[in-house]
Amino acid sequence: MYLKESKTVVIKIGSSLLINDNKIIREKWLSEFAKDVRDLLRLKKNVIIVSSGAIALGCKKLKLSKKNLKLDKSQAVASIGQIELMNLFKKTFKKINLSQILLTLEDTEQRRRAINAKRTFENLFNLGFVPVVNENDSIATSEIKYGDNDRLASRVAQISSADCLILLSDVNGLYSKNPKIDNSAELIHEIKNIDDNIKKIATRSVGEHGTGGMKTKIDAAKICQLSGCYMAIANGLVNRPIQNIINNNYCTWFLPKISKLDARKKWIISSISPKGQLIIDDGALSALKSGKSLLAAGIKEVKGQFNKGDHVRILDKNMIEFARGLSSFTSDEISKIKGQHSNKIGNLLGYISKSEVIHKDDMVKV
Ligand code: GLU
Repeated sequence: MYLKESKTVVIKIGSSLLINDNKIIREKWLSEFAKDVRDLLRLKKNVIIVSSGAIALGCKKLKLSKKNLKLDKSQAVASIGQIELMNLFKKTFKKINLSQILLTLEDTEQRRRAINAKRTFENLFNLGFVPVVNENDSIATSEIKYGDNDRLASRVAQISSADCLILLSDVNGLYSKNPKIDNSAELIHEIKNIDDNIKKIATRSVGEHGTGGMKTKIDAAKICQLSGCYMAIANGLVNRPIQNIINNNYCTWFLPKISKLDARKKWIISSISPKGQLIIDDGALSALKSGKSLLAAGIKEVKGQFNKGDHVRILDKNMIEFARGLSSFTSDEISKIKGQHSNKIGNLLGYISKSEVIHKDDMVKV
């Protein structure tokens, strides 16, 4: 099963799972869900939670209705509710280490910001923390806003190179017909192609708390398919929803169209134009050929002005292009550390940093 085989798992929980129609917080459910997360961590998986609920919890605190809430007011409400949301997580997740990341649309769409976010996720995994992500609703305005956490979650899955995204919802998955009005409706277990028929049956259905509905879930699935990530729409209303998927697999899976590695490479290679060049020595060239990362020691020369996360060419000593990649350092930093052993980087730059100038995952051979 796809979830079992995944190393990095993103789980999105919608507002309606955290707060019921009577505006009661579903604390018991959240503590059961925490057991699911604990089990995934025990299996040595990296877990990211994308949680909605800032606006719903803010409304509850202020005794407001979410309906008819104007954007500027909802930004303030989200700011009030986000701390309520994290307090709720902290209280129910007890011994599980949690961190918070609030993202705006630009953080995931701009390469440099996305790669920074990717590194932050990796560092949090290494530290044994579970990032809880939400959209930065207090800052995002309607033009530059996801607005729904389904698509945000799929971007988070893409950036963190996740193997699988689970959208926990208040439905079991996608049905052949509307199950509320048609008894012959059947749950679709696997979807390879999001064709017109799938789009048609994914009719929009919006609850009071969530903003998504099926349409944004299908949008999220499209992003996942092109990121090499499996995605499931599953029922979150049951206790232990993740365990339920593992045991019963009663949900809808969207299968990726390309491998995760190909997706990442496509993302790297599709960069508009490389900003600089790194000329490397023979030692580095053979290290790269055997699949290693590029270290400062093997760099002879740096050309061009570029920033951390920018796209650069890697050339051998005869100026033949060997690979392209995303630099983890600025061109100025590389000028200072080129030719030097990794353990000198801290002293040369005045701060501790990672040792790979271009990580092997951020590199594509041409
Ligand atoms: N980010 C919003 C919140 O936390 C929710 C968006 C959604 O419902 O998908 O309230």
